Amino acid sequence: MLPLVALVGRPNVGKSTLFNALTRSRDALVHDAPGVTRDRHYGVCRLNAERPFVVVDTGGIAGEDEGLAGATARQARAAAEEADLVLMIVDGREGTSGLDDDILRWLRKLAKPTLLVVNKTDGIDVRAALADFARYGIDPMLPVSSAHRTGLDTLLANVLARL
Ligand code: GDP
Ligand code: MG
Repeated sequence: MLPLVALVGRPNVGKSTLFNALTRSRDALVHDAPGVTRDRHYGVCRLNAERPFVVVDTGGIAGEDEGLAGATARQARAAAEEADLVLMIVDGREGTSGLDDDILRWLRKLAKPTLLVVNKTDGIDVRAALADFARYGIDPMLPVSSAHRTGLDTLLANVLARL
């Protein structure tokens, strides 16, 4: 079985865009509206042909525990639980948020290997963005632009080093 990498994060940070960039498919729904991807979605990353791995995209994790948002959150947690490695995706333009804090709280309880992926770093001060997220204490923090496909080589190297 191929190793499994879960993409988790609040709605609209670019999980599906990163999924597409890694799997080079348009399978994942990418949409401006937050939380469009409702359940788990699998694809294979073959950017390093010798060591393919499965990527699972999840709907955004909303804070509340009721209704569709609650079901989406459960799917994201299930994906993280079954994964070998978790990529916590955050929005480098918006900085830290309460929802990111909530997600990190349950990720810490899960105690899985976790990388912090700071997305949307195109056209912004990357160092300032990283400084904001440093308080999360996740090492390494990896700046990427999923939309512009930058930072993916370093991300890939860090993922493969942990699988
Ligand atoms: P998800 O809800 O986390 O799956 O987020 P999506 O992948 O659907 O992306 C949400 C929005 O952010 C869309 O409008 C994307 O085009 C945009 N987006 C995603 N990645 C980037 C990026 O690297 N840079 C910029 N500027 N926008 C991005
Ligand atoms: Mg999505």
